[in-house]
Amino acid sequence: MAELLKGAAVVAALNEKMTAEITNLKSKGVSPTLAILRVGERPDDISYEKGAMKRCETVGVAVKNIVLPADVTQDVLIQNVESLNNDKGVHGVLIFRPLPKHLDEEAVRKALKPEKDIDGITDGSLAGVFTGNGNGFPPCTAQACMEILDFYKVNCAGKRAVVIGRSLVVGKPAAVMLMGKNTTVTVCHTKTVDMPAVARTAEILIVAAGKANAVTKEYLAPGQIVVDVGINMTADGKLCGDVKFDDAEPIVGAITPVPGGVGTVTTSVLVSHVVEAAKKLL
Ligand code: NAD
Repeated sequence: MAELLKGAAVVAALNEKMTAEITNLKSKGVSPTLAILRVGERPDDISYEKGAMKRCETVGVAVKNIVLPADVTQDVLIQNVESLNNDKGVHGVLIFRPLPKHLDEEAVRKALKPEKDIDGITDGSLAGVFTGNGNGFPPCTAQACMEILDFYKVNCAGKRAVVIGRSLVVGKPAAVMLMGKNTTVTVCHTKTVDMPAVARTAEILIVAAGKANAVTKEYLAPGQIVVDVGINMTADGKLCGDVKFDDAEPIVGAITPVPGGVGTVTTSVLVSHVVEAAKKLL
């Protein structure tokens, strides 16, 4: 039976560290504040917003909510981003995407200051993932995978890792971050030939394909550490990962559950970026 790499313990450790840092910041007159900019009323956005607000409240990060109507103009949206860029009381900005179709998402992404880009969406943030010294923050989900490996003391140096998925928010940054841990990394995608054979070579397997239960037993090998990033809704309304859990559990050494794995750590990473952004001000 695989060891379960639960997110809750990682979150508790991150919260403890953040609480001490926030107390210190507040004693110096800085109250870390996250601005959440939402356009429209998409249920996914509202549900993530609630989770993020609760997590902020737990550790003492303030939240400023900006909600714009779904038919907001591009000009008004950019004005709001710029006003948050200039607001000294706001340390991090989360902008929900995808934006409604009539809005130019690329222009909005470019308008945000990397220093306040706690979600890792700007070019300044992504450059930092590659160079190690950017002025933004890495994408939260990719960092959440690393936090889990660190917390459970997975020694990455010299190990073979396979990342399934090459999106800009998860797969690519996770692969680069693993390289930073001296891991030998292979990235698989939809054009990879004989993916199960490649995946079986992994000692650490990160799965971010965005396809429910795509990774079945032929992808897996004994002893592997599996980080399942996927969040998918099944027909009966339950959440499942990109890894077929029942296939994986008897084979692999350890696996993150869904729900209760990467997703829960991602929100904490987001909040920790707000605290980091506030610390940089001092
Ligand atoms: P995406 O759709 O943008 O990218 C998926 C990537 O996987 C693409 O590069 C695609 O080429 C590749 N891919 C698709 N099918 C594949 C297959 N069968 N085999 C190999 N590669 C395949 O998705 P994303 O934004 O990277 O998200 C991936 C998953 O992670 C989704 O299930 C998403 O819901 C979830 N997610 C979780 C969190 C979290 O906090 N846990 C955050 C963001 C996304």
